[in-house]
Order: sequence, then structure tokens, then C-alpha cells
Amino acid sequence: MQRGYGRALPQLWRRIAGPPAPDKKGVNYRHAFHAGNFADVMKHAALVSALEYLKKKDKPFRVIDTHAGRGLYDLSGREAAKTREAVAGIVKLREAADVPPALKTYLDLVRGFGDHYPGSPLIAARILRPIDKLTAIEKHPEEYMALADALRQHANVRVEDGDGYARLAAVLPPPERRGLVLIDPPYEAENEFALASAAVAGALRRFATGVYLVWFPIKRRSDADALAGELLTAGATKLLLLTLNIGGDATERLTESGMLVVNPPYGFDAEMRETLAFLAKHLAQGEGAGSRVEWLAGGAG
Ligand code: SAM
Repeated sequence: MQRGYGRALPQLWRRIAGPPAPDKKGVNYRHAFHAGNFADVMKHAALVSALEYLKKKDKPFRVIDTHAGRGLYDLSGREAAKTREAVAGIVKLREAADVPPALKTYLDLVRGFGDHYPGSPLIAARILRPIDKLTAIEKHPEEYMALADALRQHANVRVEDGDGYARLAAVLPPPERRGLVLIDPPYEAENEFALASAAVAGALRRFATGVYLVWFPIKRRSDADALAGELLTAGATKLLLLTLNIGGDATERLTESGMLVVNPPYGFDAEMRETLAFLAKHLAQGEGAGSRVEWLAGGAG
């Protein structure tokens, strides 16, 4: 990935002009139509793996989920039936045998919810120890209410209604000085890639050692390249790219999903290589299926 003035100029401009204004689109997004699809499986398997690594040290840490969703999704509901995305994702995966160990932790957790699917905040809440904390932020009022209900039994969780990007700046650095930030916006707004990269750039200035998981859909390779370039310019010195492509007809639906991981825990890359290769094999819909785990900066060790 290239660095230099070409990459630095948009960053510099944003520092002068402030973050880009949110686009009006995206307010109608409902994750229930997509819960448990291949992209959710990938992002949640990565989340579980990273959290398990963070738990290897005794010291507490904090998770910040900037776009948390409603927390729990009914796979037998109208939305899931309409898209059938979960059928090609988690429902298919639940049948797989010989699952790699890291993926098994995620699958066992999900299986425990029966015909419902847990979203990222509920997954994190289940994995955290009592000493760890979760801040889950959701902007949509109905989704926020459902989320507060889904997480009400967890004492170490704070649910906030508001703009995840704005709140992220306010809650960093975490008092624990150890933490993981998940940024998982709907990407319905045209400037969502710019919003996400500006949020990570600001967050890195406040909390350079945090682990950041930034999910994105891959419709145009240039969006992913630009996002990675912005994170490098923002000072990410350890940056890992994960992609999962399920193949098949990309004109009708999303077939490739990506994640950029800043400061991945040691060992996470090897674990994700195995996990994503397994997912690509078991969730393949047609030609072109495959996965990538690639260091864009830094590297193992
Ligand atoms: N992270 C969730 C998971 O993995 O289960 C799914 C999140 S979904 C892709 C995106 C969510 O972000 C939606 O529930 C949407 O209402 C919410 N949202 C959209 N814009 C937001 C913003 N600026 N701040 C916080 N939440 C936002």
C-alpha cells in the first residue's frame, strides 16, 4: 500500500475542515434483513477470535461497538425469510463438521441462541469477563430500544443511543487503556467510507494502541484500497486486511466482505487464515470464492 502526499492530503484537509457531515441516507437500514449472512459470520468470527486473544492477559479491557444494531435477530422472522441471507450463511455453517477451533468458539456461542442470531454487542457481552466492559452505541431509536432490552442482564455493559462516530471520540481512550473498537456501519450513505476512515484517524490520535476492526462491503476494490490507504496515513503501523468472497453472481447481491484490523493481537492473523479458508469453502455460492489475509503494514511478531 502506498504512502505519501497523495494519501495524506485528504487526511490533512479533514483535520482543517473537520469530519465529513453524515449523509441523510442510511437511516432506513435494518440489520434484520442481513443478520447471520456470510458477512456477519466473517465479522463475528473475527470479533470472537480477537476478544479471546485479549482475554489471554489478566488485565481488563473495554469493547466499543459504534454501530451496534438491535442485538438479537429472529432467523424465523419476516426479514430473514425475505432475503434468505442467513440460510446461505450461519444456517449452512451450523451443519459443517471439522470446524477449526477458533470458529468453533463462535459457532458454539451462536448455536446457544437456537433460531435467533446474536449480533456483535450480544456476542461481545457473552465473551467478556466480569472485569471487562462494553459500550454499545446505536443511532436508530427502535433498534436502540431493542438493544437495551437484549443487553439488560449484563451489568458490565453500557448502551447508548447516538451517533457512534461522535461518541467514539468522547469515550477514547478507555480508562482501562486496553480495548477493541468495532466499526460496522450500514454503508448506505455515499460518504460512509470517508466517515469510517475519519473516525479511525481521530480514534488513533486518542488511543493508538487499541485494536480496531473496521468492516466494509467489497463492491469496488478502489473503496477498500482507499480506506486502507487512509488508515495507513492516519498512523496505523500494524494493519491486516481480511477478505471473504463467496463467489457467484455479484450483480444481484453482495458476494465479498472485508475487514481492516489495526493492531491485531499476536496470532490472530494465522487463526483468521484458517477460519476464512474454511468459510470460503463451506459458504461458496459459485466461482470466485476465496479468502485473503494480508499484512498491509507491520506483520506477525
Ligand atoms: N454491528 C452489528 C452486528 O454485527 O450485529 C450490526 C450493525 S448494522 C450493520 C449497522 C447499524 O448501525 C444499524 O443498526 C443502524 O441503525 C446503525 N447506525 C447507522 N448509522 C449510525 C450511526 N451514525 N451511529 C450509530 N449507529 C448507526
